Amino acid sequence: MMIVMKEGATAAEIEAVVERVESVGCSAHVSKGDLMTVIGAIGDRDHVGGLGLEGAPGVDHLVPILKPYKLASSQFKKGERSVFDIDGRKVGGDSFALIAGPCTVESRDQTLDVARCVADAGASMLRGGAYKPRTSPYSFQGLGQEGLKMLLDAKEETGLPIVTELMDVRDLDDVVEVADVIQVGARNMQNYTLLTEIGRSGVPALLKRGLSATLEELLMAAEYILKEGNEAVMLCERGIRTFESSYRFTLDLMAVPVLRELSHLPVIVDPSHAAGRRDWVQPMSLAAAAAGADGIIVEVHNEPDEAICDGPQAIATERFAEYADQIRRVAEVAGRGLAAV
Ligand code: PEP
Ligand code: MN
Repeated sequence: MMIVMKEGATAAEIEAVVERVESVGCSAHVSKGDLMTVIGAIGDRDHVGGLGLEGAPGVDHLVPILKPYKLASSQFKKGERSVFDIDGRKVGGDSFALIAGPCTVESRDQTLDVARCVADAGASMLRGGAYKPRTSPYSFQGLGQEGLKMLLDAKEETGLPIVTELMDVRDLDDVVEVADVIQVGARNMQNYTLLTEIGRSGVPALLKRGLSATLEELLMAAEYILKEGNEAVMLCERGIRTFESSYRFTLDLMAVPVLRELSHLPVIVDPSHAAGRRDWVQPMSLAAAAAGADGIIVEVHNEPDEAICDGPQAIATERFAEYADQIRRVAEVAGRGLAAV
């Protein structure tokens, strides 16, 4: 915490603040400028906050310097980046994770077809939702347990780790049977009970940014998972609500370098849900890789025109190898290789 003193604060007022800071076990570093004095209080932020220094004689205002999130912050790892091993696939560091698959699991044939295609093209994980957060309660809600079984079959056949969404803590036991990574959907980013239970499960998590969440709110949500002792959290930028209505969501690619500065956690980009149209998915995927993302999560379908959910944004299986190739080339320029098997 920085305590900014008023212009003309007296030596006695400054000394009084220093004494109060030290009285709660913090140290005070006084920096005297030409016009004003700033006191840096180092120690527990809550202790300093509890002193009520805002109203103390000579104090102008307080500026918090420590981030409200601690475990997610870059300082926590002293600048080192987190690298996770998901069933043999690296996420973070110099590896680029290509997570690909259908929006939703529709049938065994569809899931296996897509899984084989993305595995052959070098994807590092298979995505697919068995529980779907849909805007309309009348839309397809996912195959649930039946869908999870299909994902397990796809994993057995291709060896790809599975990324699948958990919407409700009541489904946790079923989902952890199958998921190598639990996806937290954008709409659940601030479901703190869900985050806490995922933290306790110890299963790696892919945490999507809420539709209107700030980066600080995203990092605070990650903190809920990390706080339970689960260190494997991947942050995911998937597009946010802005005034622009020409496309689904605004893909905030600034979030990539900024999150990588604020946090040691890997940053994954979802270009599919932001674009909403497959011809926009490719350029935004390349841009994400160029911006330094640690990976991409992208939707792929064997029959996009027949897809139950998010068909217009799905890359067709026959085009996926070429797509993956281009991503690989840009990721390499950004210093990353596609995560090895
Ligand atoms: C999805 O990944 O299919 C999905 C529903 O994503 P989001 O939560 O980002 O909307
Ligand atoms: Mn989708």
